[in-house]
Amino acid sequence: MNNIVIEELLNKEEILWLNPYKLPFEYTNALCELIVSDNDIKDAEELFLRFAPFIKKVFPETQKNNGIIESELIRIEKMQNAMETTTKLKISGNVYLKQDSHLDVAGSVKARGGFFEVLKYAETLALKHDKINTNDDYVKFASEEMKEFFGSFTIQVGSTGNLGLSIGIISAALGFNVKIHMSADAKKWKKDLLRSKGVEVIEYESDYSKAVYEGRKASMSDPKSYFVDDEWSVNLFLGYAVAANRLKNQLVENKIIVDKNHPLFVYIPAGVGGAPGGICYGLKRIFGDNVHCFFVEPCVYPSVLLGISTQKFEKVSVSDYGVSGKTDADGLACASPSGFVTRIMTNHVSGIFTVSDDTLYKYLKMLHKSEKISVEPSACAGFVGPLATTKCVDFKKYLNLNNIDGDALSNSNHIVWATGGKMVPEDIFDKYLNY
Ligand SMILES: *Cc1c(COP(=O)(O)O)cnc(C)c1O
Repeated sequence: MNNIVIEELLNKEEILWLNPYKLPFEYTNALCELIVSDNDIKDAEELFLRFAPFIKKVFPETQKNNGIIESELIRIEKMQNAMETTTKLKISGNVYLKQDSHLDVAGSVKARGGFFEVLKYAETLALKHDKINTNDDYVKFASEEMKEFFGSFTIQVGSTGNLGLSIGIISAALGFNVKIHMSADAKKWKKDLLRSKGVEVIEYESDYSKAVYEGRKASMSDPKSYFVDDEWSVNLFLGYAVAANRLKNQLVENKIIVDKNHPLFVYIPAGVGGAPGGICYGLKRIFGDNVHCFFVEPCVYPSVLLGISTQKFEKVSVSDYGVSGKTDADGLACASPSGFVTRIMTNHVSGIFTVSDDTLYKYLKMLHKSEKISVEPSACAGFVGPLATTKCVDFKKYLNLNNIDGDALSNSNHIVWATGGKMVPEDIFDKYLNY
């Protein structure tokens, strides 16, 4: 990797790293089809549909949407104005917010990947033991008999907080025993909430990679235990990828065109890379070169950036590069990235921004004030994207490299992917506002 980038990372500056490994979509399409195919994603969509009657039954808040957990895409004009007036810069194009921060039940993007992986495991077990067949009404999964059946199995996961919440909630609803291995960065209220649901929370004093390592080890020694492996899981990735087709429908509903003259820019916070990777992979398969996906990581945890830029993937740890520090973006505090995601996204991701906590809080307050929307610090990372269109030299370089001219840029749409926030207790959110 470029030494200048390392130096900037060491200085904890906010940067945009442009991915030199990105390829035109047609070059990667065939290989990708072999790894995660369109059919795999379609199967994942169908699994969510089969489980909708169960979800609807056990989580009444999902009744309005018939058991499908999906978030709104909204235009945030007031926020865009606030971003422009405070910086005296104009954003080219329109800014939208994808509110995974307010997904039903789990209140974060993890409701996609986490729910999918657990539901898939539950279905596999139930099929194997002749408890169900795929034509049945899956409301059956809410029965006492099923809960008793799943009660002899354990699900474990390492988490910085939100993955644990998502896996804990859905696993407990199905009747599984659940053990969540939490890193030091995990917020206390997330641990308390899980314990209140009967979930066993095991705490570690070190970082996320250690929590995953310990969880994996504990699970391996128990034949009736299943480990959700955030650093390698293809199922999590598939659950996230389902977002893409649903977003496509929302774009159509909102009359948002995506083509060469109307590029779509998407900015998603990254921890190990699973959520942004899965979502962006799905979007690339639909929109090809007309969607431009950027990840955003904390200045002190640029693990996906290091993994892809060095091509050492999961073998990097931010501390090996001397990058360290604390962040309130607990959902993004991952020292090493996913080996699977850094590989599959190497030729797809446009670039990766880094962001400081100060900037996250600035946008958290601005969003709250302008749009009355509350999200957690991690979820604000994507807001660094839209202003880069005018103020960032590297972004301009990207536009030139990709032949995006001024007209196309002014027709462009920017989606800031808000990834968590609904579950934050009020007193904690008040503290965020007073940061
Ligand atoms: C987990 C999480 C992310 C990033 O997901 P990864 O799969 O770890 O990259 C982003 N925002 C929030 C709020 C999260 O909880």
